[in-house]
Amino acid sequence: MTSVIESEEHRALRSAVAALGGRYGRDYLTRTIADGRHPTELWSEAGALGYLGVNLPEEYGGGGGGIAELSIVLEELGAAGSPLLMLVVSPAICGTVISRFGTHEQKRAWLPGLADGTRTMAFGITEPDAGSNSHRITTTARRDGADWLLTGRKVFVSGVDQADATLIVGRTEDARTGTLKPCLFIVPRDTEGFSRHPIDMELTAAEKQFELVLDDVRLPAQALVGDEDAGLLQLFAGLNPERIMTAAFAIGMGRYALARAVAYARERTVWKSPIGAHQAVAHPLAQAHISLELARLMMQKAARLYDAGDDAGAGEAANMAKYAAGEACVQAVDQAVHTLGGNGLTREFGLASLVTAARVARIAPVSREMILNYVSHQTLGLPKSY
Ligand SMILES: Cc1cc2nc3c(=O)[nH]c(=O)nc-3n(C[C@H](O)[C@H](O)[C@H](O)COP(=O)(O)OP(=O)(O)OC[C@H]3O[C@@H](n4cnc5c(N)ncnc54)[C@H](O)[C@@H]3O)c2cc1C
Repeated sequence: MTSVIESEEHRALRSAVAALGGRYGRDYLTRTIADGRHPTELWSEAGALGYLGVNLPEEYGGGGGGIAELSIVLEELGAAGSPLLMLVVSPAICGTVISRFGTHEQKRAWLPGLADGTRTMAFGITEPDAGSNSHRITTTARRDGADWLLTGRKVFVSGVDQADATLIVGRTEDARTGTLKPCLFIVPRDTEGFSRHPIDMELTAAEKQFELVLDDVRLPAQALVGDEDAGLLQLFAGLNPERIMTAAFAIGMGRYALARAVAYARERTVWKSPIGAHQAVAHPLAQAHISLELARLMMQKAARLYDAGDDAGAGEAANMAKYAAGEACVQAVDQAVHTLGGNGLTREFGLASLVTAARVARIAPVSREMILNYVSHQTLGLPKSY
């Protein structure tokens, strides 16, 4: 990569995080998952080094950078085989929303901990009956004196067990019908009426997904983040970083798989020369590399626009980056598994489990089809079928 695209500071961050990732690597994550633990050692060390909060304001303990820096952190950890999924939600979505719209008290209470990794926050928007149509969410907040009472259900929310709180997207009672006016609440993990049930996912990952039930969860007035009437703007401020970070997650995973395949293809010899000399093996790997590089370029554009304060411009680029990265990741992982032949499916080589993991980037946080819909309607001005 040339310095025209990436500054000296960014390249230095990239190599420092890559060095940290290299000290942990895939074996560490595999052991952690097998032991049913979370990657707390890596999380804590990355926090102490300032990597988890690079995007958060300096006055609250962050690095004063943006999503450009945070996406480098996630991509490089992923490329080393040890991605931290909670980076997508804790500092990127929750940290961004709180630092942009939270009260001074909320910032003081949460940002230093999110920045150094001593606290984490999950993010819950998806609902069983709304799915991709988030305008249909029904989790409802009603006032009770100075308090709020929150009722509803969420599904597939990542890391609720390890997070100190979850940022829950609901809607106020008077906005139950009609266009969505979301409002965001910080719900501490052990609040009465807030229960979680792990979903049995076919995924090899340290973070679990949960179904959540909120049964008249009583929250103080200060649990509401920002303004109940400006919720949509606030929500979108958090969703663009989410898409950019999912792109980083996907690119990191794709790079990891590709590097493993290339190393294998250089060595494995069943005819006269290593299998990597056969173009049927080499070209798909070259194509996967090109797709990952292209996706990264779009991710860098999205991060640049977002960090410059252009929320609208970042929206399109963030969606396109997430789309491109998800597809590139699926392609790279598929080709990597294939390159290893039978070994691609062994536990020892550890690539087969990435086949399912790679699909996450195609589905979440917004599916491939919903991004194609977005580009069809918003960019190309085509009519809507739904
Ligand atoms: C591992 C994992 C982690 C997750 N973590 C979180 C989290 O932390 N917090 C959170 O809130 N959510 C989380 N999610 C949820 C995720 O964001 C949703 O799964 C995603 O938004 C899709 O919603 P759905 O699963 O209900 O699919 P559905 O909306 O039911 O869609 C099913 C299929 O139909 C297609 N489809 C739907 N509508 C249209 C249309 N109009 N046009 C064309 N195709 C369409 C979709 O593209 C998809 O292929 C996670 C999901 C996974 C798998």
